[in-house]
Formats: sequence, structure tokens, C-alpha cells
Amino acid sequence: MGKDWLIKGGTIIDPSTGAQEVADLLVEGGRITGIAPSIAKEGIPVIEARGLWVVPGLIDIHVHFRDPGYEYKETIETGLAAAAAGGFTQVCCMANTLPVNDTGAITFYMVEKAKKVEGPLLHPVGAITKGQKGEGLAEIGDMVDQGAVAISDDGNPVMNSEVMRRAMEYASHFGIPVVDHCEDKNLSAGGSIHEGEVSARLGIKGIPAASEEVMVARDLCLARQTGTHIHIQHLSSRGSVELIKWAKELG
Ligand SMILES: [Zn+2]
Repeated sequence: MGKDWLIKGGTIIDPSTGAQEVADLLVEGGRITGIAPSIAKEGIPVIEARGLWVVPGLIDIHVHFRDPGYEYKETIETGLAAAAAGGFTQVCCMANTLPVNDTGAITFYMVEKAKKVEGPLLHPVGAITKGQKGEGLAEIGDMVDQGAVAISDDGNPVMNSEVMRRAMEYASHFGIPVVDHCEDKNLSAGGSIHEGEVSARLGIKGIPAASEEVMVARDLCLARQTGTHIHIQHLSSRGSVELIKWAKELG
């Protein structure tokens, strides 16, 4: 798409100002130069947006591009094209590639490849631990140097509290968040659904809410201890929300 176009009749939503109005929006040289009830401009592409939303570029903080290692499913180019098609201008890529993004070299590869694509920005999220196995720490400093914006083992919890503590200390030092998955694998082992009346009735081994909540509590304590910004993903229990509320009230 070129750098000039006129978007007609869409519902323009701007969270930064709270504005929501049906109007025309003019873009010139890649910049918004006018918003008005009716704009007339000859010689540039017109997008009819009646009944559609016109919003600032969306940011997806948790995507799984399959490059490197699984390019037969998706490459950085096709992933970014899909993001652009969905209205996303920035994406944060999880580290469960092959090899796992646990070194500066893999982060560098992703950033360099994305630079060649005109479109959304790609921000790598490095692994917390080598191979996302929860044992030794990944090369956090090198990954940050190459452009990693956060660290995460994605859906794998870092079961060892000492390892998580060190990871948070590094993250705090580098000024990046730890994006964690809270699950005590010993408590959840073998479970398929939420543990409760339904799991008992169906005879399916359940996963107790406490398997998430004990780890949420642990990571909140470690974040407090280390002064680290954490983002707790995959939350599913009421107790976890109450714990986070409690931690926020403490500051
Ligand atoms: Zn994920």
C-alpha cells in the first residue's frame, strides 16, 4: 500500500484521547494529516470504511512465529504479512522456535530478517532458560543487546524458584519484563480439566486452581523482592486475580 490514502466513513477510535466518531481520515506521506466529517481529495486511493473501525496500529504481545525451525508452517515474512492483514503494526514473538530463541544469535537472526520486511515491527521475546527447560538461564544480556524486549518460557513454568529469582534479577537489571506462566507441574500433573464437581462426575483427573495460584503468589513475591516488572500470562483462576489485586495494592 502506498503512503497516501483516504479512509472514508469509518468509526475512528483513539484510546489515547477517548475519541470515537464516524469521520473521514486522510493519510499523506504515511502520516495522518486530517480527520473531519467529510474530506475530499483527488488522485489518491480511497478506502470505503463505512461500518468498519479505524483504529491505531494494534500490538500483539504474544505471537508464535514459526521461524526459525518450522518455516514449512510460517516464516517471519508470512507471519508479518498476516499481522499486517489483521491490523497489527507490532508483534512480540515468543521463543519456542527451533532452536529456541535463547541466545543473542537467534534474536539477531529474527530482528535482521524482520528488518527486510516492509510492514509491522517484530520484537523478539527471549527465553528465560536454555531450551525453555527451566534449568540454566538463557543468554539474557546478549538477547537484550540484539533487541529482545522481554523474556518468557511461554507455556513452560520455571519451576525452580532460585532460577526464577535470578532471571528476575537479570530482567530488572536490563529493564525488561518477565512474562511468566504460572503452573506448579507437580500439582497439575496428569490433569486435563479444571478440578471440581465436573471433573469428579466425569472421572477425569482435574487440575486444581491452586496449581496456578501458588506460582502466581511465588512470582509476585519474587517480583517484589527483585523489583522486577512481571506480566503473568494464561491466567485462569479467580484466586490468581485476587492475588494480583493484593500485590498491586501493596505497590
Ligand atoms: Zn504462547
